[in-house]
Amino acid sequence: MTTGRSPQARIFGRARLRGRADLCDLHVADGRIVQIGASECEHPDVDLAGALVLPGLVEAHLHLEKAYLLDRMPREATSLADAIALTSQLKSTFTPADIRTRSLRLIRAAMGCGVTTVRAHVEFDDVLGLTAVEAILALREEVRDFLDLQVVAFPQEGLTSQRTARALFCSAIELGADVVGGIPYADDDPGEHLDLAFDLAERTGRPLDFHLDFSDDPDQLDIIGVAERTIARGLQGRVTVGHLTSLGSVEPARACAIADLIAQAGISVVALPATDVFLNGRADQVAPRRGLTPVRLLLEAGVNVALATNNVQNPFTPFGRGRITETASLLAALCHFGSLAETDTVVEMITDRAAVAVGLTDHAVVEGAPATFAVFDARTARDLLGDADRAVLVVKGGREIDLEQVPR
Ligand SMILES: [Zn+2]
Repeated sequence: MTTGRSPQARIFGRARLRGRADLCDLHVADGRIVQIGASECEHPDVDLAGALVLPGLVEAHLHLEKAYLLDRMPREATSLADAIALTSQLKSTFTPADIRTRSLRLIRAAMGCGVTTVRAHVEFDDVLGLTAVEAILALREEVRDFLDLQVVAFPQEGLTSQRTARALFCSAIELGADVVGGIPYADDDPGEHLDLAFDLAERTGRPLDFHLDFSDDPDQLDIIGVAERTIARGLQGRVTVGHLTSLGSVEPARACAIADLIAQAGISVVALPATDVFLNGRADQVAPRRGLTPVRLLLEAGVNVALATNNVQNPFTPFGRGRITETASLLAALCHFGSLAETDTVVEMITDRAAVAVGLTDHAVVEGAPATFAVFDARTARDLLGDADRAVLVVKGGREIDLEQVPR
């Protein structure tokens, strides 16, 4: 054994890091990576034997309280509007205990893939009130040792069309929600919806995360209003949008100009391929569109693009196992990302890029950063999209996570 090690100090030996040809020893103390050096420790505390070490994976956009609803659905949804309506009907069956149970099931599935941070969009409205927000905020504390859970106050049913929504929006933030959500297409006046969300974010110092432009309609472009407000209010780097699929139907020259505006506004875009491909493209009789945001075009414009799982086994996405590595594999196929370099980018979209999208700093396997990482039986990032989709070890703040200890 190495001498002089503090009680909390541990060495994870023979780690494979991206961008380094040689294997490394990770020296961890007091929850941080204190040193990364060439592998030389003969008796590390944990021998990683050449396994790939990535920063903890990040689920940048997930719905916990409406996961696993298939057995309650009276029928299948036929469109986005129908999925929203169908789920709305089911909300009367949600109880705090039921929300907790289904949320923990999804959290455990995510953690099995090496996820250490989840940003959850949690709904409030005239039916739910703050039931879901309160349940997920309590869960945030309950799982704190295992997972960092960010709560977005999300007005799925709209802000101006719901009697209580504006007051609930403020209350959700006062209760401790981390992020101001929004979904301008849920209200008749998207501009008014955006102003309410930006005002609340500015007043409370919270970042913003919108469901945005979720259709195949090239004229649905609330992204321009979001970018303009972001720049005008000096909120660059504080705004994230999910879906943004309409942009995929915009003709290329205009789409490039909008991508440049998004980059200028420092807005992160989160592709949600499972839901996007399931609900979009339905009216196309020939060669149905994939219905995704134009990932490659956005990347080339310098936009931070992430990907996330969004919905699992509900009217919006009646399948999925809650494994972000599978979602990444789906996106890689849909975007024709197959090479080593391209699949490296896809894995960045569930690690580094997703971390930026949810406002994490210091989320990297580097000296001085928190020792929060996931280990995979893999040599390359591309292996994760194959059969190495489950983490063999997850470390959060220097502590090895035991999935069996996660509450049920
Ligand atoms: Zn969503």
